[in-house]
Amino acid sequence: MAYIEPAPLKDKENPFEAMMSRFHDASQLLGLEDEIYNVLKSPARQVIVSLPVTMDDGSIKVFEGYRVVHSNILGPSKGGIRYDPHVNLDEVKALAAWMTWKCAVVDIPYGGAKGGITCNPRQMSAGEIERLTRAYTGAMIDIFGPDRDIPAPDMGTGPREMAWLMDEYSKTQGMTVNAVVTGKPLVLGGSLGRTEATGRGVMVSTLTAMEKMKINPYKATCAVQGFGNVGSWAARLLAERGLIVQAISDISGAYYNEKGIDIEAAVAYSAKNKGSLEGFPGAEKINGEDLLTLPVDVLVPAATEDVIKASNAPNIKAKLIVEGANGPTSSKADNIINEKGIVVVPDILANAGGVTVSYFEWVQNRLGYKWEAERVNRRSDRIMKDAFNNVYRVANEYKVSMRIAAYMVAIDKVAKTYKYRGGF
Ligand code: GLU
Repeated sequence: MAYIEPAPLKDKENPFEAMMSRFHDASQLLGLEDEIYNVLKSPARQVIVSLPVTMDDGSIKVFEGYRVVHSNILGPSKGGIRYDPHVNLDEVKALAAWMTWKCAVVDIPYGGAKGGITCNPRQMSAGEIERLTRAYTGAMIDIFGPDRDIPAPDMGTGPREMAWLMDEYSKTQGMTVNAVVTGKPLVLGGSLGRTEATGRGVMVSTLTAMEKMKINPYKATCAVQGFGNVGSWAARLLAERGLIVQAISDISGAYYNEKGIDIEAAVAYSAKNKGSLEGFPGAEKINGEDLLTLPVDVLVPAATEDVIKASNAPNIKAKLIVEGANGPTSSKADNIINEKGIVVVPDILANAGGVTVSYFEWVQNRLGYKWEAERVNRRSDRIMKDAFNNVYRVANEYKVSMRIAAYMVAIDKVAKTYKYRGGF
């Protein structure tokens, strides 16, 4: 099978440095001791594995896989697995640290981790992806565990991969261990509400922020970048709450309709069209980059890292940015955005609904019980709102952005826990 290596991304900020710059600023404001600063600045564990996989044509291709455990101070480490051609160690390190801060911000008892495999799942068959997932699980058998490190889906993975991972792990234990992974299909112990959880949390964060900013959702306009699990659910739930979603986008480009896009129709179209919005009839096609600078009230970047940067930040017109993706704003763009008076609900708060419902899934697995969707949603909405209000209060108290406030809340919680556990 022909495998085309992607061209390297140019003009990208190193995501680990972007994370570290905020970590540094928040630590200074908190007056964090050097000892704990040094503990938190480097990941607890970084594992790189080579994964030989038999491809459908009989050849063997070797893939590189990663798992970075940033911290297990608050509890077992938690975080998704990304399948993407651009996956590299620095990205996984940043994403792992973001998971530590995210779990701390929403006050759930997990540390942070992230995994990834440098591969292009769009160019692989289901069988090849299954063999790759099983090889990765086998290589990480000493890392994973329901009380050690609990993976979940991220870009390029979903319930199907989590099912293979659970099965492979369970085989080595000689019993079914469904709590080893979250984001599973419902029949394997997945939780109701998990699929839409991240998008739902984005919706709750958006509405809570709009309430504080006195923006009426029924008159507000919105643009959502990315139409994967997070973007499509965020767009759908925001539209249901009355927002006019004027633009959406995916890898094929951006789609604009001043009167509002019919999101249900877009979801159905993309599902029928192999996951692509190409040719979507309900909107006019525009340049993907132009979506970010549309004159809308709310901008939801829900694709990937580093899309709002110093070069385009001056042209952003939204009053509110709600980060569905991890790390969509480069650290260099932070000041520009703040000076323009744009409110940003940062990634480690805005997209924490996913890991929150992952936590509920793990709790249900351990209880051997199943909650109704209503209970899942009610509890996750409350956690998201409480976390928002807490970060908002710290931002006002210290006169800092919500991003720095979120880091302060998170770092403070991890540092206090570390001291109680007797770290020094
Ligand atoms: N990959 C998701 C995230 O970045 C979910 C992680 C999880 O549920 O463990 O938050």
